[in-house]
Formats: sequence, C-alpha cells, structure tokens
Amino acid sequence: MNFIEKIKDHPIVPAPFSNARTIEKVAEARLPTEFGDFRIAGYRSMTSDEEFVCVYKGEFHQDVPALVRIHSQCLTGDVFHSTKCDCGPQLQRAMELIGREGRGAIVYQHQEGRGIGIINKIRAYALQDEGADTIEANERLGLGVDLRVYDQCVEILRELGMGKVRVMSNNPEKLKAMRDGGLTVVERVPLEFRPSKNTIKYLTTKKFQMGHLLRLVS
Ligand SMILES: [Zn+2]
Repeated sequence: MNFIEKIKDHPIVPAPFSNARTIEKVAEARLPTEFGDFRIAGYRSMTSDEEFVCVYKGEFHQDVPALVRIHSQCLTGDVFHSTKCDCGPQLQRAMELIGREGRGAIVYQHQEGRGIGIINKIRAYALQDEGADTIEANERLGLGVDLRVYDQCVEILRELGMGKVRVMSNNPEKLKAMRDGGLTVVERVPLEFRPSKNTIKYLTTKKFQMGHLLRLVS
C-alpha cells in the first residue's frame, strides 16, 4: 500500500479540497467519561439529513499534530459489545489514547454497517450465520460493500482548527479521506486486537478483500 508507506518518511500532504461549508455545529456540552473529561459537540449536515457527533479533548492548532479517529457507528459492537467485529474495542482504545494524551477528537458518524443501516446489517448477519462472509452477505442482499463517505467528518476536524493529524485507524480509505479533506497526515496509529474465533473471518475479509492494515491477521 504505497500511500500508507509514504507516511513513515514523509507526511502525506493535503490534496486540493473544497472550502465550502457543508456542516454546522448545533450544540456543545461537557462529557465526563471513564477515559477523562471530554467535550461533545453535535453537528448537522447542510446537504443531507445526516447528523454527526464529535467527542474531543483539548485545543487544536494548525501546526500541532492531533490524534483523531473517524468512527462509524456500530450499534452491535459499540453498545452491545458484540464480538463479531472489533469496532467497540477500537472506539474504547481511541478514547483511552486521547484521554492519556489530553488532546484529540473522535468524529462519530451514523453510517451503521458500512452505510447499509442496522436492519440490513442484521439481515447480513443472518446470511453470515449460514456461512457467507461480510462482503458476500452484502452482495447477496443487493447492497454495496462499503457505502461510507467521510468528507463531512474531515470538515468537522478542520473546523476544530486542525491542520496535522495522527490518524487512529486500520482503514486506508479513512487516511485518504483526511488528505482529500485538506489535512496533513503525519502518522497512522494502528488500533489492532488479537483476532478471536468470532472475529477472525471478518478481519481476514477486511484485510485481504478490503485492504485494511492488520498485522495480526495472517
Ligand atoms: Zn462493528
């Protein structure tokens, strides 16, 4: 993955991007958590019905790299602690790292099941119970494999005042989104967990068919 390897030696500089404003912050408050005191801000898209939540800590400056994560909602993993995927542990680790560092932001986007919605995700899980992998299941339902877009999430990070980012993600598409949205990626911070018997098939598909950067999956 050339794009990712470049980060090691040279920061990935931003691509030209549109400066047009497409999100607005509508509310903000304090959010004390197990991982320290954060702030929570709610945003609305000005171009669709989509809503976003940003949980962040500290202040941001163009030249000081900040820890960031775009987390796509996973009701089963984030809330019900499902062991079918690694979303819940990734979110917790991201909060823990930001809490420890005292600075950083997580944009939580409501694109459940890579954008197919919770009901379709449960349908896909039923097909997985019969042996399909995560990609085949979506295809059999006539749904895209990954419908997510990240440009408005990146706009939120820019609006917070960020210029340089250390991206907590295993997904090359999310790194690319940062660059396409005008941020300089100075580091990728892996969020990896040893595969279990429940996650191994999902993680193997993610690594070999979707290009996710997972060193613990062979
Ligand atoms: Zn998940």
